[in-house]
Amino acid sequence: MTTTTSDNQELVDFLKNVNLFADIPEDSLESLGSSLKTTEFPENETIMREGAPGVSMYILRTGMVEVRKKDPLTGIDFLVAQLGPGASVGELALLTGRPRSATVNTLEATSVFSLTRADFRTLLIQYPEISLGMSRVLAERIEQANKNVGVEYVSLSKNANLDPKIVGMVPLNILKQHRIVPLAMSGRSLTLAMVNPTSVVAFDDVRRYVKGFIIEPRVCTEEDFNRFMSMEYAKLMKLKPSDSKVLRTQPVKPLAKSRRRGGLETQSLEDLEAEILGGLEVTTDEDEDVKPSEMELQTLSGDAPVVRLANNILALAIQKGASDIHIEPQEHGVRLRLRVDGVLQVESTLSRKIMLPLASRFKILSRLDISERRLPQDGRISLKIDDRAIDVRVSTVPAKFGEKIVMRVLDKSTSLMPLERLIDHPGVSGRVHKMVREPYGIIYVTGPTGSGKTTTLYSCLSEINEPGRNISTAEDPVEYDLEGINQIQTHKDIGLDFARILRAFLRQDPDVILVGETRDPETAKTAVEAALTGHLVFTTLHTNDAPGAFTRLEEMGIEPFLTASSTLGVIAQRLARRICANCKDEAEPDPSMTGFFGCSEADLPRTYKGKGCSACAGTGYKGRVGIYELMVMNDELRRKVTSGAKTDEVRDCAIRNGMMPLQKYAEYLVREGHTTVEAVMAVVSISETPEEE
Ligand SMILES: [Zn+2]
Repeated sequence: MTTTTSDNQELVDFLKNVNLFADIPEDSLESLGSSLKTTEFPENETIMREGAPGVSMYILRTGMVEVRKKDPLTGIDFLVAQLGPGASVGELALLTGRPRSATVNTLEATSVFSLTRADFRTLLIQYPEISLGMSRVLAERIEQANKNVGVEYVSLSKNANLDPKIVGMVPLNILKQHRIVPLAMSGRSLTLAMVNPTSVVAFDDVRRYVKGFIIEPRVCTEEDFNRFMSMEYAKLMKLKPSDSKVLRTQPVKPLAKSRRRGGLETQSLEDLEAEILGGLEVTTDEDEDVKPSEMELQTLSGDAPVVRLANNILALAIQKGASDIHIEPQEHGVRLRLRVDGVLQVESTLSRKIMLPLASRFKILSRLDISERRLPQDGRISLKIDDRAIDVRVSTVPAKFGEKIVMRVLDKSTSLMPLERLIDHPGVSGRVHKMVREPYGIIYVTGPTGSGKTTTLYSCLSEINEPGRNISTAEDPVEYDLEGINQIQTHKDIGLDFARILRAFLRQDPDVILVGETRDPETAKTAVEAALTGHLVFTTLHTNDAPGAFTRLEEMGIEPFLTASSTLGVIAQRLARRICANCKDEAEPDPSMTGFFGCSEADLPRTYKGKGCSACAGTGYKGRVGIYELMVMNDELRRKVTSGAKTDEVRDCAIRNGMMPLQKYAEYLVREGHTTVEAVMAVVSISETPEEE
């Protein structure tokens, strides 16, 4: 058949561009191609898993894969690369016989040529040019790996010329306890082979013997360590045979004191800081007007302790459930703050000298230009921890004392609470439940930034997420992964805004649409049109209370009668700190609360508070609880809105029709013991009058 020839030519053209085969003469490629086996992988399939034995390698023919690598110190899974046709994966483990050093998942349906070790050997004999391509691929891979994780494998048997003076710097019992071997010293760093490089205690113990050195961890296998201890240590250290019984490696006891929590382990930031400062040779003081070259920045930020400090900051934030990480250079130090449950807390203040390497490290991780320090930049880091996908949005802004870095942590796998758990008040959650099952109309969720609007929207969506419904979302950024939903991220730089995505959705036969935010007339107008043409639309607005939504829409040019006929309801909300369940206790009656409850001192209800315990770091609060104000439209409210009534009138009418105002809902939460008057007052002003005149 004639098609065979053109297929073959296509294959030859493809193979020419495969890095591995680039040195093979074109006329040999056809026969090479015919000996390759093709395997198909569907989307979201794991082709190889980190730590598994490597028996084959793969060359991508079509499709796209992601390569992820775990930082053994913190357990964070970093996205190392995304690879497309022509790239090869798995050759390292195939050659060394060691476990896979990375996990490879398909991002779309992917077709690969797979080569077993035997296939690869045969090919290598037939086409020796492959070894040239191979060295190139490997060199690139090593460069990439060093850049991304900074912990390498090491073989003790290949380090035959170990120096007894260095090995002997740490006593035998410590070596055995932590399964470590000091390998080399250069300058101020000590290279340490470790079976478990995540052991924080090992670092601390080694530092008691080797002071002032930066510890550069390397990973060695357990067999390698045991073999070294039983066969070589005594010889190397010239021990007498009578000492031999101490050499038998004992089973390792679990660490008594471990900082491991939630799958993460962190080394103290101060320890890491001390390590970095001990090893810093390049002056990085901004005042001296030193401008380090890109190369110097690369080197500084690739230093193992800097890598670990950056990883530990991320791990710490995730462990504490922080939503934001602030790294702020100040006159005398670098302040690290984490936002937990809506409150910014100072975590640590580090030396100013750390700022430049640390900032560079975060910029490398988020693929930003490390030499640009005068302009704001935005990037992202994609992480995985125990199979949870975490997206970190990185933003840098030049400030007076250097670049300020703010990172927003988005745990996309956070499980969504069902509406009735999210909204504590059974009456209110019941009405929301009913409202989201309407066939068309708009539901607005309002409140200030950080008031949990997105969570409410997603809870609503998951309530109605069924295969029979086409649900599409436009978001900035995508904060949750919901199965079966088309989620689109806006891209301002290419003009892909909410309004444009919304118009595109309407051509895609949607049933339900979520628009992250309505902040411009065009989005507002398109959303109303969508609702009036039979779609259910969810979106957010920046207003303080539910009735205020109508004024805001009018300001955006929506006619009141269109608003009245398209709106199903408005949910206004706030988040207040929740009393820690672990140390919750009855509170003393407080006469100052009479204003809040609108009653006399004798009638004050019983309230609760957290005494403070280890679970809540002594604050008495853990997590947050939503305060809601639900306004469901009815005929009377529609007439009011159409007539152009003021916010106050709409509010009175809504209350007459059963709306429980924010303040009343807050009171309910306090009486039920979910939160305190103090926590509520921090987010809801009781004397709050509607903001519009
Ligand atoms: Zn507590």
